[in-house]
Amino acid sequence: MSTSDQNSSVETNATSSSSKPESPNADLKLDFASFWDYSSAPESSDNVEIKPSYGHFINGEFINPVKGRTFSSINPATEKVLTEISEATTEDVDKAVKAARTAYNKRWSTLPAKERGKYIFRIARMIQERSRDLAITESMDGGKPIRESRDVDVPLAAAYFFYYAGWADKLDYAFPGRKAESLGVCGQIIPWNFPLLMLAWKIAPALATGNTVVLKPAETTSITALKFAEICRDSGLPDGVVNIVTGAGQTGSAIVNHNGIDKIAFTGSTSVGKIIQKSIAGTDKKYTLELGGKGANIVFEDASIDQAVEGIINAIFFNQGHVCCAGSRLLVQEGIAGKLTKKLKERMETLIVGDPLDKNTDIGAINSKAQFERISEYIELGKAEGAEIYQTKNGLPENGYFCRPTLFSGVSQSNRIVQEEIFGPVLTIQTFRTPSEAVEKANNTPYGLSSGIWTDRGSKIFNIGSNMDSGVVWANTFNKFDPTSPFGGYKESGVGREGGLHGLYPYVNLV
Ligand code: NDP
Repeated sequence: MSTSDQNSSVETNATSSSSKPESPNADLKLDFASFWDYSSAPESSDNVEIKPSYGHFINGEFINPVKGRTFSSINPATEKVLTEISEATTEDVDKAVKAARTAYNKRWSTLPAKERGKYIFRIARMIQERSRDLAITESMDGGKPIRESRDVDVPLAAAYFFYYAGWADKLDYAFPGRKAESLGVCGQIIPWNFPLLMLAWKIAPALATGNTVVLKPAETTSITALKFAEICRDSGLPDGVVNIVTGAGQTGSAIVNHNGIDKIAFTGSTSVGKIIQKSIAGTDKKYTLELGGKGANIVFEDASIDQAVEGIINAIFFNQGHVCCAGSRLLVQEGIAGKLTKKLKERMETLIVGDPLDKNTDIGAINSKAQFERISEYIELGKAEGAEIYQTKNGLPENGYFCRPTLFSGVSQSNRIVQEEIFGPVLTIQTFRTPSEAVEKANNTPYGLSSGIWTDRGSKIFNIGSNMDSGVVWANTFNKFDPTSPFGGYKESGVGREGGLHGLYPYVNLV
């Protein structure tokens, strides 16, 4: 399909931002016209080039897959094909690993650290230079609102490269008294929710510490990784230092099981993380696993309610709820539950669900048909479990995979919608009376990735925070990321940390 076809298909789907939700004040005599009526403001994709097909990026060039297999990448907002992506078999993966090994031995591991850093700085700057193109591509390929791709995903991806570029020649300061040796070839497998950002989390620390990589993006969101490959090529990065192979789970498995891989860095579901852990048991491969979550967002009676409502909205509806650390379980202290729920529903009604390329859009398209069906099944399950459902009333686009922001109340701790990761715009709400009850409920899932605490008491933040089984605890905010901060989980949310100084450890041997 040509780029102009894609553009026209995107334009025809820019429908929902004009739909006006009913004002919660409609039954009052005074209507302050509390809702703005937004004209649509679509970002143009005219100058964004998505090629009709992409090969694998191996040894500095794009090459066709050995067995010639391809699959389509779909725009989830229009259900139209964007491009054809190559499917890597074990032969393609083998080529990529060999290219990465040669680059490691002959060039990258022996390059002075300061020179390594220069390449990474250049990559960071080129991400900034191409940020508009990358942001629009990310929204078209993955369904996320352009405001988020433009203001969060792409700037943060550049920031991670800048941050780790700075570490390249300072590893002696990172690990005083120790020598940090690179590992070799790293196999990296990432999910579809933050395609370019997850790539940055993986590739930037690996390169900074002198390793070479073979990375596989998720099947539904490969395009920005392939555009990143173009950046690597255009930056003059030595051939074979970064290799990108595309494909589905079998390609990932081929990377995991390849003998030439020294370290696996995986971000994805807990179920696949367990398969990977079993596959590499008994080998000397190092690994980090960043897995799923079911974050609790705890609001105390002394919190600023309006601020908390904004935080709750951001915690669960950011990126359609496709966020491992989403605050998908709301725990509210009983005395304010009624007031907070009312305000939350009113705020939910103002959310614009629609065309990801429209700058007014708050919630874009669900990433794929499969994920849309999975979320829909969980919504049906919630009803079957006896929970009370509230969904916003605004119109949805006719085509594409769109889901209304959804709130379930009247749930119990053992309900599956409280225990299992839905990975969509679906929030459950429970109440608590005492801080210890809040902690007990928050910790009562198999996961331990993130949590949030809303209160005006600093001491309460420290008391509750130190009792949470979660790798990240946000206080009076949520979903804030910074390259200098480590990120990772406890329990079934994974092993190891990414980001910050901690994110260097998994890529080195300390001697
Ligand atoms: P999956 O586990 O299904 O997939 C993750 C990646 O692994 C994809 O590239 C996938 O390929 C690949 N893969 C699938 N099967 C295998 C296998 N057997 N061996 C090796 N690789 C395989 O997760 P999703 O893509 O559905 O992502 C959502 C999950 O990721 C959620 O659970 C979320 O919580 C988690 N996540 C965790 C984060 C964290 O930092 N803790 C951050 C972001 C997401 P393909 O998709 O092409 O089939």
